Amino acid sequence: MEADPYRREREEMVEFQIRARGIGDERVLAAMRKIPRHLFVPKNLERAAYEDQPLPIGEGQTISQPYIVAVMTEQLEIRSHDRVLEIGTGSGYQAAILAELAGKVVSVERLAHLADRARENLARAEVTGVEIVVGDGTQGYPPEAPYDAIVVTAASPEIPGPLVEQLAEGGRLIAPVGPRECQDLVKLVKREGSVETVPLGGVCFVPLIGQFGWQGEISP
Ligand code: SAM
Repeated sequence: MEADPYRREREEMVEFQIRARGIGDERVLAAMRKIPRHLFVPKNLERAAYEDQPLPIGEGQTISQPYIVAVMTEQLEIRSHDRVLEIGTGSGYQAAILAELAGKVVSVERLAHLADRARENLARAEVTGVEIVVGDGTQGYPPEAPYDAIVVTAASPEIPGPLVEQLAEGGRLIAPVGPRECQDLVKLVKREGSVETVPLGGVCFVPLIGQFGWQGEISP
């Protein structure tokens, strides 16, 4: 890995943007302290990588705000042997955080160019244990199902049915659900075949475009 000129910024991000807002899971905090977020943003935005905001990553897409990554990761309650599915690879940053905590991470990205760049970002950050798949993540990824945890990092009008089907017994699913601009972050827990839903608050995500998400002419 390259020399790390941003260690202090990253520690401050964790303390002041994440721990101070109530994220207490030490494994999540350690992962966010470790993963070099500046390697997952475009070079010209590197100096903004530890600010409290999403950033553009090309193709009209974004790397999510660090705090939102932390909330979603904590709520997934990942154990070290868990199999995790992410929908919306984007930069690969969320996948890198998940890989610190889980046994196996599969991440599905609709746009091949972003998937290629995410693979490069993960390699530069020396993150292993992530399989990136190009495809329509609203259909999940049946070959590796069932998953102990599923996180959707783009928003759809409803939670795609295939994702609920591919969730293991006891599994947790986090997704932004609602209208185009801003949505509710929702947590589903599957218990004895039925699904319990917990609202986690308001968020604003880019659209999840595919068979069980937004369709048609919406530009990416
Ligand atoms: N998790 C990402 C990260 O850490 O950088 C941020 C994801 S970005 C907010 C949302 C991503 O979802 C975009 O890269 C977009 O191309 C992708 N996306 C949208 N619809 C999708 C679909 N049906 N399947 C897979 N990825 C999709």
